[in-house]
This record gives sequence, C-alpha cells and structure tokens, in this order.
Amino acid sequence: MSNGSTLPPPRRLRGTLLVIAAAVVVVGLGGWLFWRSSGHGGGPPGAGQPAPSRPAANGTDGTAGPGGAGHDGAGKSGPHGSLKGKVVVIDPGHNPHNRDHGQEIARQVDIGNDRKECDTTGTSTNDGYAEASFTLDLARRARTLLQDAGAKVVFTQNGDRPYGPCVDERAAIGNKAHADAALSLHADGSGAGNRGFHVILPARVTDGPADTASIVAPSKQLGKRLAGRFRAATGSAPSNYIGQGTGLDVRSDLGGLNLSTVPKVFIECGNMRDPKDAAQLTDPRWRQKAARGITEGITDFLTH
Ligand code: ZN
Repeated sequence: MSNGSTLPPPRRLRGTLLVIAAAVVVVGLGGWLFWRSSGHGGGPPGAGQPAPSRPAANGTDGTAGPGGAGHDGAGKSGPHGSLKGKVVVIDPGHNPHNRDHGQEIARQVDIGNDRKECDTTGTSTNDGYAEASFTLDLARRARTLLQDAGAKVVFTQNGDRPYGPCVDERAAIGNKAHADAALSLHADGSGAGNRGFHVILPARVTDGPADTASIVAPSKQLGKRLAGRFRAATGSAPSNYIGQGTGLDVRSDLGGLNLSTVPKVFIECGNMRDPKDAAQLTDPRWRQKAARGITEGITDFLTH
C-alpha cells in the first residue's frame, strides 16, 4: 500500500528530502552491518531471516506472510521488544469462505449457557466489503506490529480454511496457546446513524464447559486499555448506540468469550452499515491506525 501524495513536493523541499533519504540509507546500512557483526542472522538478507530493521508501521500492504493459523513470531523482536515472551492470540471474526458453507457453519455448538451456530458469515458494507475481509486485513496489520514488539502471535484462522473455525474452537485455540491476551476482531452491522466502536467484555458465566470467573477482571482491564488506545489512535468515538458512551459492553451470549480461560475481549471496530463508519473501515490508512491502537492497547495491558 502506498500512502504517497499524488502532488510532487516543491523543488527545494524535494532536494532536502533527497539529502535526508541519503542520510537514512547510510545510517540504516551502518546499523545493518552492526547487526550482522553482532551475531544475528546467518543467511543473506531476504532468505527467511528477520529483517534487521523495518520501516515505520505504515506502508504495510496487509498481505499475509508465510504461515497461517499457528504462525508465530519467533526470532522477530522489535527495537524495544517490550512484548518478548508474550503470546497474543488474534481471532479474525468470521471467515471469507463461510458464505459457501451455510450448512457446516449452522451446526450447533455448546457455549456453556446455550447452544449456538458454529460460526456466521458476518456483515458487510453497503458496497459489499465483507466484515470477514476487514477482520483478516486488520489482524495481519496488528500481527506485524505485535511481532515487531517481540510478541508471539497466533491466529485462529488466516482465510486459508474452508470455513470457521467454530466459536468454541476459536476459544480453544486461545486457551491452548496459553495466551496472555486474546482479541476477537469484528465490525458491526447496525442501522445507519449508529456509529463508533465498542469493546465487548466477558460476563461471569459458570455453566457447563463455561467458567469465566478467573478472566472477568483481567479481561476488563484489557478492554479498557484497548478502548482508550483505539480511540486515541483512530480518532473514532465510542459507540453512540451501545455502552452509554463508554465504548464498553458486557455479554454472556458469545461462545468465544464464555469458553475462554485466558483474558479475552471482542472489538467491534465500527458499524459497516453506516456510510461514515464504512468510509473509515474501507480505508487502509484507517485500518493501519486501528492496528496501531490495538497493538498499543494490548501492550499497555501486558506491560503495566
Ligand atoms: Zn462479526
């Protein structure tokens, strides 16, 4: 993705930029040589080794790297490495292929206090941008930033399976990974005029396979920090239709939360059916800001 302006800068400014760019190249090369000589990296650059330095967060095109569910960030630590040793599970809501597997995803699964569909297709903007595409793109952007900070990132799905996984399996993946934080990404499908984001926290549910007693408090902390950072990074307001302006909601009807044994929240990043929210959700630059807010919220939770 390129965010470059279509208008060329004035000539003098362009000259200055050239000098700066040249300086950056020299400094960057020096740093790379130092990195090489300090024992990192065996093979030639680009041969599967982590890059010695990465450009700033923007500029990623959101395409998937190698690997999918279960791909981890081993060997990738950022300049700060503040999340080194931490496991973050990202759950991109729905699946772009769910629409072709109506029967399979309609299967009922046990969510503790109820039975519910395995998975759903999700919503879309009025122009047809699917929630499942949005959640995958945002997840990949967040993964890059989290890995740069040293975290191991596990996906519940990477668009590479025919459907699902079911909501109970989505929770199980976070549990099995012993996630320090788990986050399910979504965008809402409410009426036009309903705007803004909200974070969904697990209610206390103790029923059948569900027992959220130990995760209610830490999940609330995760959710509060996430809401604060998401708001600051995107400039989006908390939902004007859920949560009374707090950007926080509590639910007991989501299998992905009921069955979690690790701190977990959902985020509904905006309302795809509102034209103004849709304009943001379909903008890659906005999604990059959202990924940064998510990363900062998780980092806040894991380091304080
Ligand atoms: Zn959703």
